[in-house]
Amino acid sequence: MGAFLPNYNDPIISILLLLGIIFIVSILSYGYSIWKQEQKQKELVGFLKSFESSEDTIFDIQNIEFEPSMKKPLFLLAHAFLKSGDYSKAINLYLFLIKHTKDSSILGHLAEAYYKAGFLQRSIDIYKEILFNTPRDVEILYKLELTYEQLRDFSSAKEVLGILNELGEDVSKLESYLALQHIKIDNKSKEDKFNELKNFLDNPKESRWVVLRELFKLNPYNAWSYYDDKEFKKLIDILWKLDIAHLNLDIISRHKSLKKLYYAKGLLQESSNEATLFAIDLISSAKSCGYLDSDLRFKYICSSCKSSMPLPFLRCHKCHKVYSMNIEVEVGEKREKSSYSLQ
Ligand SMILES: [Zn+2]
Repeated sequence: MGAFLPNYNDPIISILLLLGIIFIVSILSYGYSIWKQEQKQKELVGFLKSFESSEDTIFDIQNIEFEPSMKKPLFLLAHAFLKSGDYSKAINLYLFLIKHTKDSSILGHLAEAYYKAGFLQRSIDIYKEILFNTPRDVEILYKLELTYEQLRDFSSAKEVLGILNELGEDVSKLESYLALQHIKIDNKSKEDKFNELKNFLDNPKESRWVVLRELFKLNPYNAWSYYDDKEFKKLIDILWKLDIAHLNLDIISRHKSLKKLYYAKGLLQESSNEATLFAIDLISSAKSCGYLDSDLRFKYICSSCKSSMPLPFLRCHKCHKVYSMNIEVEVGEKREKSSYSLQ
């Protein structure tokens, strides 16, 4: 009887058994990974069904038969549409590509297209879907935070910053920016906002000028007591456009840069001989020679992406970096007085 049963003491039988077990486990594992991949693809297609709507049929490619060789050219075409601002066509192409290739890496581009087209909630849903599979994707987390911020959902944006912080990212500037934005849109009195904002003056220290700009906007007279000449270049547009009633002559008389600025503007009779900015020195010299029709013009440049904007900004509209604004000053001819907006 024992001759018919396998001899477990035989090393060849043991090796064959082991190889058999490894083979069965490998087959099961391979089958499971294929099943899981198919499930993911089904979920992806199901998830995208909620985004299909009439506006997505503007660029009609749904009847075209998909070939794998079309993937790269169509992806590049979608990217070109996105760059040129033709968002509905870009969205339509990305949806088409994801549907036929089941490539989830295109989801991030689709979310960006929805963001740019103004469909912020759709963008958030897609970013969450991506994070469900890759929760430590820092780039997507930053984009999700930005989208929440655009929706004025500051508490969700703050939660995302908390996750980024746990992942080792330095989000101190973003946290301060978010808190600042929250105060700015709050329904409080100007006085309450001023008192809350001044607590942010040194937090973080390198963005002190940002808070100071807001303080000058809320209450110029009280803001003077926090003025520091180190921030002169970052405040120059605000200082130049201040009304004469909001000047603090005591503080101005203590700083040569301010004395020269307000002499150039024609609000002071005495100036300083010290050089400040080329444009201010030029206007001062012109004034000394009796030419009174010159004025300062301001351009706002992002120190990160070098984009130029006509209005001041706390977060660059192009590269989304916070507190990256530099002010470029030019001399121009005086125009009729117009209303001034800080943001
Ligand atoms: Zn920028």
